[in-house]
Amino acid sequence: SASPLGNSVIPIVNKLQDIFAQLGSQSTIELPQVAVVGSQSSGKSSVLEALVGRDFLPRGSEICTRRPLVLQLLQTKRNADGTDEEYGEFLHVPGKRFYDFSEIRREIQAETEREAGGNKGVTDKQIRLKIFSPNVLDITLVDLPGITKVPVGDQPSDIEARIRTMIMSYIKIPTCLILAVTAANSDLANSDALQIAGNADPDGLRTIGVITKLDIMDRGTDARNLLLGKVIPLRLGYVGVVNRSQEDIMMNRSIKDALVAEEKFFRSRPVYNGLADRCGVPQLAKKLNQILVQHIKAVLPGLKSRISSTLVTVAKEHASYGEITESKAGQGALLLNILSKYSEAFSTMVEGKNEEMSTT
Ligand code: GDP
Ligand code: MG
Repeated sequence: SASPLGNSVIPIVNKLQDIFAQLGSQSTIELPQVAVVGSQSSGKSSVLEALVGRDFLPRGSEICTRRPLVLQLLQTKRNADGTDEEYGEFLHVPGKRFYDFSEIRREIQAETEREAGGNKGVTDKQIRLKIFSPNVLDITLVDLPGITKVPVGDQPSDIEARIRTMIMSYIKIPTCLILAVTAANSDLANSDALQIAGNADPDGLRTIGVITKLDIMDRGTDARNLLLGKVIPLRLGYVGVVNRSQEDIMMNRSIKDALVAEEKFFRSRPVYNGLADRCGVPQLAKKLNQILVQHIKAVLPGLKSRISSTLVTVAKEHASYGEITESKAGQGALLLNILSKYSEAFSTMVEGKNEEMSTT
């Protein structure tokens, strides 16, 4: 099954890629990167993992993510017999395919120790992992160490400043989407995530607020006002999620079970009634997908003019040979026509009138 992230975007991107392949060029749209930021143990790795829909990231109550993990999802073709093949490949282990995702997690841990030591050290040296799967779209996700204030273990006295600089180097990129993760049982007004995201993206054009740990808030409190943006407004809004607890992790609870439990959590709490579009990992994925569709829409005119100029070149070339410019240019014009139709379909989709797109 498809990962929650991308299930509505994959078909669009695939169709565009087909069009471009016919025209003889390959790269079409570069989707923006998505990075998670926030305090240590706020649930950043848990959120990324839930979005991808596979278990493979080190998570835990202590510092786990100690190097930036650049995770490239790459879409592959489904096998001829209809089965899926999903595997990971690390830049630092060339040629080896990891089919076992718990082995991927162990390798991330081992590689973290190789570079950052065994005693809580943090380094800005990346780990680069590619996940190949028919169920993903081509997008890059970045898992980052969390912000900490007090040095522990081998951490230097200026650990906080170092981590902040590291995080900024990713999220200052104007196309990077920021998932600003804050635990619901901490004070939003003191959120490291919102603070650093606000530095990188002061107008809030590319920051989504994620509130985790809704299940372990103080008795008598809830996240309703947080999710409604009444505490700290955020242009793209907030999504509340319930990820697996430390106990769930120790008991090897699956992502699938966790999603079922999350759904049940929201359904059984009247306070979240009427906030369905702000609750749950699937909603977070939907929000991200909508932003990606907007992005695709924004880059389409550029793609169109690129095709147009290709056509002009082809036509001139043919004219110089004194040939009738039939086949290639004719085919190109047809493709341009198809692309125009896509453009309309995108507009419709973005306006939310139509979730489906036809091939013709
Ligand atoms: P990170 O340091 O921000 O990457 O946080 P992790 O994803 O490693 O999670 C830190 C700890 O919080 C782990 O023990 C998780 O099991 C736990 N955790 C994360 N999200 C939730 C949640 O929504 N509810 C509960 N109960 N625990 C969570
Ligand atoms: Mg982490």
